[in-house]
Amino acid sequence: MGCYIAHMYEKLPQKCTSSYYFVSADPADPLCDYLRARRKEDIAFWRMLLPDQAEEEDAFALAISLAPSVGRGEQYVINRFTALWVLDKLPETKAVIEQLWHLDFARLIAIGNTLDIIEEWADIDAALAKYLTPKRAAQVLPSARQIREFIRKHLGAEPSNSLSRDILIEEPAGDRRRVFGVLTSDASAIMMREAVTRTAEQMQISRADALMCMVLGAGAKVTINLYEDKAGVLHTASGHRFDQEEAELIREQANTRTLERPVATKRYRFSEKMRAFIAARDAHCRYPGCSVPHHQCDIDHVLEYNRGGVTSVENAQLLCRHHHNLKTAKLVRARIEESAEVVWAYPNGTQCVTQPEGVLT
Ligand SMILES: [Zn+2]
Repeated sequence: MGCYIAHMYEKLPQKCTSSYYFVSADPADPLCDYLRARRKEDIAFWRMLLPDQAEEEDAFALAISLAPSVGRGEQYVINRFTALWVLDKLPETKAVIEQLWHLDFARLIAIGNTLDIIEEWADIDAALAKYLTPKRAAQVLPSARQIREFIRKHLGAEPSNSLSRDILIEEPAGDRRRVFGVLTSDASAIMMREAVTRTAEQMQISRADALMCMVLGAGAKVTINLYEDKAGVLHTASGHRFDQEEAELIREQANTRTLERPVATKRYRFSEKMRAFIAARDAHCRYPGCSVPHHQCDIDHVLEYNRGGVTSVENAQLLCRHHHNLKTAKLVRARIEESAEVVWAYPNGTQCVTQPEGVLT
């Protein structure tokens, strides 16, 4: 095996550029070949152990019995069973996965655990198969988190009833500390996190103190941008939907404006309208695999301002501070296309592409 790995690295610079593929399943990259074979073997191993889902109690008993040999808890085993049972209900998705062998168990479990309780399979199957099919060369494969969010957004419905909105979470955290929160929708939680984080930054205090100030009515004035589509559904920049009750509550308090594509400016700084537009397009840091949310990102001139780069949404991307520094130090290079896809180039010649994921896309 050691020899084989050395051999792979010798071949590494050869890249397939003629067709669409995920960069981590590049058919011309021997390193990808090796990892693909491991994923395939891993899935085959768990298929061999897979009990019939109809015998759920027996499956649980089997999971408990297998756990010691696997060296993990029973949930580790059950997650893998669930992932494969769910995959069997998604023939189109399964066909894509078993052609490319690009998904590891972290991603399969994201599918399994998010879809375990649904009843209508055909629609999500077609959507997921398309989502997991590469749309261009060197595309970055969606992470487990992105797959989970894609499914949730596709299924649409957010939790909505007064009971679930009336649950307080208060857990002791040792040393006279507690974790305190409320149970709410993804969209509301994301909006509140942004409000607390930005208040904390503006007042230069901790997030706990920022929340305290907000409760006392003494928080800093921060503006949160939310986005309403043509159908009247309200979203966060990342595309998470508010349910009707939440949207009504928000509309009573919020001002509205029309979001138009801002025009380029000669100034260095991006305007507030540009920031709102870019946040809604990118949602989070555009570096491959990074998910730092928009309100904690810088706006980067993809082609540097001092090299003639324009201050415009077409030449902008969101980057977290860490990845902004990597780019500024020229350890990685980036180029943005008209479609807002960003092509990243690494020191060894590898390239990959990230796609915008915000509510505008
Ligand atoms: Zn980042």
